[in-house]
Amino acid sequence: MTGRVGDDGMRDQDPALVVGELRGYRQFDLRHDGLYPRVHAESGPWHTPLERARCGVTPGHAAPASGCTCGLYAWYLPGSATVALGPASAVVAASGRCILGDRGFRAAAARIEAVALPGHLLWRPWAAARVRRMLTARYPETTVYASARRMIQDHPPQDVSGLGISPPADRSRGYRSAALGLSAAMMVPTYALFLIPRDAVAQTVSAGWPLFVLLVVLWQAGLVWLLTRLLELQTDSPRRP
Ligand SMILES: [Zn+2]
Repeated sequence: MTGRVGDDGMRDQDPALVVGELRGYRQFDLRHDGLYPRVHAESGPWHTPLERARCGVTPGHAAPASGCTCGLYAWYLPGSATVALGPASAVVAASGRCILGDRGFRAAAARIEAVALPGHLLWRPWAAARVRRMLTARYPETTVYASARRMIQDHPPQDVSGLGISPPADRSRGYRSAALGLSAAMMVPTYALFLIPRDAVAQTVSAGWPLFVLLVVLWQAGLVWLLTRLLELQTDSPRRP
């Protein structure tokens, strides 16, 4: 089940039949009527209880096929697969024929085990309640979480070493938290400046000017470093044309 893995970690392997279900992580676009794949959204929202892969390139063959990009894709680890803030992160359970890569797989069929509401809904409780009602009606067997962190705690990655795969560690979520924390760490004192009397601000800044510049430079450098690491970890979509 090992073998050469293509550039995107998905191609150039013969399909394997995975016994039972294979856990994966991915994101969906949350719309008013369901969870849509982020690529090829025209195929509509995922069906329940099971979504089946269809090849959009060569409709004749059974998806997934080696040498093609078809199949329902997901990643073994939640890291970069759940790091984007806009879409809904999800845990899927794949079944049937799978093409196994070093970081993820393409499957013939999958169901959505759990989904986490996107972060922006945290501040809009009415919208979140409406989305929860839609998800419960449309995906009755899917557990809905308020946060991806909690969902991943309850649905940890599977050990895929039995399949001959050891996915590289993915610290995307840690880097993202650090970048958000670092941004907030600078923003809070910046806004606090408006609350302090201007004379006091001027005195402090002129007294500690070199230190102030150093802090800003370090802050910028830290942010750039974190964002660079985050971008490096982003993987290409297995459906890349
Ligand atoms: Zn295909």
